[in-house]
Amino acid sequence: MHAPLEKKKGFSPDQIAYLVDAIAQLNLHEAFAPSNGSTAQGGSEPEMVHGTPIEDLCKEELAKYQQHPLDLRLRLERWTDRNEMAEGLDNFLLRHWGFFNVAPNSPGYMMRMRIPACKMRGDQMLVMAEIADELAGGYAHVTTRGNLQLREIEPKNVLEILDRIHQAGLSCHGSGADSARNMTAAPTSGFDSQELIDLSPYTIRLSNLVLNSRALQGLPRKFNISFDGGGAISSVSDSNDICFQAVRVGMNEAGVEPGLYCRISLGGISGHKDLARATGALCTPAQTVMVGAAMLHVFVEHADRTNRKKARLKYLLDAKGVEWFLKRTDEKLLEMDADFQLIRLDDAHDAPRAPVNRSGHIGVHPQREVGINYIGVALEMGRLSSEQMRTIGKVAMHYGGNDLRLTVWQNILIPHVPDDQLSLAEAELNAAGIATKATAFAAGGVACTGKWGCKFGLAHTKADGTRLIRHLEQTFRLDQPLNIHLTGCPNSCAQHYIGDIGLVGATMPDGGEGYFVVLGGGSDSDRGIGRPLCGPIGSDELEAIVGTVVGNYLDQRAPGQSFLSYARSLTDEQLPSLLERAS
Ligand code: SF4
Repeated sequence: MHAPLEKKKGFSPDQIAYLVDAIAQLNLHEAFAPSNGSTAQGGSEPEMVHGTPIEDLCKEELAKYQQHPLDLRLRLERWTDRNEMAEGLDNFLLRHWGFFNVAPNSPGYMMRMRIPACKMRGDQMLVMAEIADELAGGYAHVTTRGNLQLREIEPKNVLEILDRIHQAGLSCHGSGADSARNMTAAPTSGFDSQELIDLSPYTIRLSNLVLNSRALQGLPRKFNISFDGGGAISSVSDSNDICFQAVRVGMNEAGVEPGLYCRISLGGISGHKDLARATGALCTPAQTVMVGAAMLHVFVEHADRTNRKKARLKYLLDAKGVEWFLKRTDEKLLEMDADFQLIRLDDAHDAPRAPVNRSGHIGVHPQREVGINYIGVALEMGRLSSEQMRTIGKVAMHYGGNDLRLTVWQNILIPHVPDDQLSLAEAELNAAGIATKATAFAAGGVACTGKWGCKFGLAHTKADGTRLIRHLEQTFRLDQPLNIHLTGCPNSCAQHYIGDIGLVGATMPDGGEGYFVVLGGGSDSDRGIGRPLCGPIGSDELEAIVGTVVGNYLDQRAPGQSFLSYARSLTDEQLPSLLERAS
């Protein structure tokens, strides 16, 4: 027999509930038990967030301090029930959940997915097509981080969309605002005959680790991480805050065992005219997950929280130096109970990276396994109708391995198609208006959303880019790759500084739309920041001016010379001659 329960002394449940409510309203939990790195030491010391006094925080930092972005879920219930859009700083916070109020440029929310390693399945694309039709605008865009965006979402549909994508094994979390954004890997990871290693499993693990770490959300600023396994298609890792590049290290006197490692470059941000800098640090492929997490923690604890223009990793490295950052990373690895430290070795012993195939993202290409291929479909500036999404998903399921890869060139690969299924797969794609071949102009054209759907946009990038590429296709025949990057504003989402030809949106003196033109940028073995050519030029002058530049290149180049090589052979003084067309 049980002894009778002794009546407990103390507060009744009602009294406890009252006290909890009262304490919560006093916000004492924030003052005495901060969860976001803040410190409060009584009345004399100022309250701090990772060393920055509260009163010095910029408004976005203050908003994150007052409400951790993860804690927005309850308010999302209310906004959904009331069909109410998040505005102002709430809109900023909600971007951590992947929903962006983009009015007035485009109605409703834009939703940006999170597709780590740029890998999704054919059946997931079918779900996205269904959502696009039933709860969004009936179309999608592939972004320059190998991701998908839907638009025209009414606030009342947000929670249903979240439910549906979660059921399909997808997420849109951490794809906007101050997040470690979609982590990219080479789109041919795992089946590329020249890659050194498939880094996509580590990409996905780091992405999941971040999403499950409260401290690694609501960073001081957005953060890009890329994994390059050395395959034929570039993931443009130079423009990332952290780039893990697979390398084979040879014999050396430093005692580092020869073998396969990931070389770490840091601080790439092409819009600020800086590419990722060499660090002399290495880790093994399996260690990239812990190293990435440690570096993110160092960034969280030390980056600028007062000025968003100086908050990206580049500026922390500029202020403190790469060596300082690596030392803090080693300390953090110890704190995280990792049983390794970063390896230091300069790149003199690295085998060179295999060349990137700049046309490898379009058309049919053999995979590592004999008789198996991938098909790169050509999308016009990343645009996809829901019908095309459905076709791509079905072709991946029926003819491939239900596998899809999105590229930073704003197109999609359908892998694992056997030789004898190729013609059937291509025929189905072509019947839905999806091209599997493209001219060099179309294959290399990328554009951010621009003014059509982004409040920062100064020009209609996608429409202007489409018009420009059609004009160039009708005027010239080109046998070399040529990338034209159109970015709507200096935020550089389409990375104009690393295009062969870069166009960045501008306002003309008369208030009209226009562009500045830069030339000769590149990534990977061609890495370099484009040089200014002219601008602002009106949007309606694009075809004439870019056409003149391309015409001069084709007339004056050495046989087979690429545009990049030709543009870089010109001095700053010679560059303007490209604008003069010989009659
Ligand atoms: Fe918007 Fe500017 Fe980014 Fe284009 S570059 S999507 S206009 S913020």
